[in-house]
Amino acid sequence: MYKAYKFRLYPNDKQKELIHKTFGCTRFIYNYFLNECKENEYQKAYDMCNKLKELLIEYPFLKEVDSCSLRNSIFNLEDSYKNFFEKRSNYPKFKSKFNKQSYRTTCIRSSYKGNGYSNIEIDLKNRKIKLPKLGLVDIRGYRNLYNINGKIINVTVEKETTNKYYVSVIVEEVEVINKKKNPTSIVGIDLGIKDLVVTSNGEKYTNPKEIKKHEKRLKRLQKKLSRQIRESNNYYKTKLRISRLHSKIKNSRRHNLIEIVNRIVKEHDIIISEKLKVKEMSSNHNLAKQILDASFNKICNLLKWKAKLEGKYYYQVDAYYPSSKICSHCGNKTKKTSNLSIRKWECINCGYENDRDINASINIMFEGLKIHYQN
Ligand SMILES: [Zn+2]
Repeated sequence: MYKAYKFRLYPNDKQKELIHKTFGCTRFIYNYFLNECKENEYQKAYDMCNKLKELLIEYPFLKEVDSCSLRNSIFNLEDSYKNFFEKRSNYPKFKSKFNKQSYRTTCIRSSYKGNGYSNIEIDLKNRKIKLPKLGLVDIRGYRNLYNINGKIINVTVEKETTNKYYVSVIVEEVEVINKKKNPTSIVGIDLGIKDLVVTSNGEKYTNPKEIKKHEKRLKRLQKKLSRQIRESNNYYKTKLRISRLHSKIKNSRRHNLIEIVNRIVKEHDIIISEKLKVKEMSSNHNLAKQILDASFNKICNLLKWKAKLEGKYYYQVDAYYPSSKICSHCGNKTKKTSNLSIRKWECINCGYENDRDINASINIMFEGLKIHYQN
């Protein structure tokens, strides 16, 4: 299983310069061979890599940067062509320095006189990463991570539009899957709009308040941007603040989801949620809805993965199971809940006062229990 770790990267001035040079050289190689393919005919990456040797002599500045990153740029081009040939994307375009800046390089291992050597290494104790040509660069992130179990496959160095540097490290991990436990506790969860997650125990999880605060600020800044003179200094300043805020919101959403999932899987042995209604997803182009759907998807995927690792059970009930229409106490069906604004309702049959979301999650739990016993 591959796992990606993304660290914030803090290069010094000299390292920054070399990183920028590498962005430039990998872009040069990409565009050079794209031009060749356009003018003559498409060539395989193997042939382009052979020609790279001549280019290194013709353009000596290429030798200053990590040669692996240049070869990766060729593989990138080959992928772009593959996607084009298989009709997944348009014809490859020339790369511009105004697009996102990044380069990828591969981890190479060798041994000499019995000593292992690797061109990329991570030292989490001292929070440093060793990168080809750059040497040791400071990293931050994953405060509670003390070692990475597995082989580093490749790394991508990137500079975001926020002017921050990041390094994504792809690691091949040996998955340690715990043996399936004898389940002793079960939970149903309802994914909702008002509260992100409501459990059959009556716990409600929402998005952190700071997200709302950030979103308000984002709206204000977007308004401000629309009033500013395009391409002016202040315009770019606002743009930078907007993209910083975007990444802040994205990160805190992600952290929140991971925290929720970790808690649920830690506390319960059988976890049940609903499947996402795909039909509703595509018919609604509302941005808030899209974000919500993405969150649901992420929660479900995280639950699935985490439950597997911990030796627990995760099931999804059918998207069309009417979880919010059934009274979880007596099984009576109601039409009251088709109005989404109704948060609480009294069952006409048994008189129980149901909380809309908790009731739904209890029904989901019972429906999931059936699946558990069928398996
Ligand atoms: Zn009832």
